[in-house]
Amino acid sequence: MENNPAKSAIAFSMFGPPGCGKGTQAALIQERLGYKHASTGDMFREEIRLQNPKALEAQDIMQRGELVPDQLIRDMLYDFLKGILEASEHLKGFILDGFPRTLSQAELLEGLLNDLNLRFPGVIYLEVPEDIVIQRLKLRGEDGEQRPDDNEEVILERMKVYKDKTYPLLDYFESRNLIHRIDGVGTIEDIYCRLEPLIESWN
Ligand code: AMP
Repeated sequence: MENNPAKSAIAFSMFGPPGCGKGTQAALIQERLGYKHASTGDMFREEIRLQNPKALEAQDIMQRGELVPDQLIRDMLYDFLKGILEASEHLKGFILDGFPRTLSQAELLEGLLNDLNLRFPGVIYLEVPEDIVIQRLKLRGEDGEQRPDDNEEVILERMKVYKDKTYPLLDYFESRNLIHRIDGVGTIEDIYCRLEPLIESWN
C-alpha cells in the first residue's frame, strides 16, 4: 500500500482477537491524541438503533457472532469517515477499530483510503493470549455492558470467526511490512504507554 507523505491525515487499524482491548485503547487514543475512533461495530449498532433497513436485515448475523456483509460495512465506514473529514479542518486521522476483518476487506481498504486521501501507516496488532480474552469477554457480559453478543456461546463463535477469517490478515499485512506488534497484556495504562510513542511517530 502506498505511503504518500503529501497526504496529511492518517488512518491506522487496530487488530486482535475479540476482547483484546482495542476498543478501550482506541477510545483513550481519541481522547488523548485527537484521532477519531471509527469502530465498525459501534457504527453497526448505531444503524440498528436508527432502524436502518439494511442494518436490521443483518442484525441476526451479528447476534450469532458472525460477520455482516463486506459491502454494508464498507459503505457505513466510508460515509462515517467522509462525514468527519468534511466537518473537521485539521484532523490528525482515524483509528479503525474492527476493520478490516477479512482478506476481502483488507483488499477494499486501499481503495477506500485513497478515495478519502488518507495515508495508511499500518496495523497495530494487540497480542493477548486466548484464555485472557475469553475471561475478559465473559466479565464484560456479566458487568451488564449489555452487548447481545457477549454471552458464552456467541463469544466462542466470535473467537472461531476471528481465527478463521481475521487472523489470516496478520500474514497479509506482515508480508507488506505493515504490522506493528504491541503486547496487550497488562493494565489499560501499561498498554496505552506502549501504543502512544508508536502512534505519535506517524505524525
Ligand atoms: P465489534 O464491536 O467490533 O466486536 O463488532 C460487533 C459485530 O459487528 C461483529 O461480530 C460483526 O457481526 C459486526 N462487524 C463489525 N465490524 C465488522 C466488519 N469489519 N466486518 C463484518 N462484520 C463486522
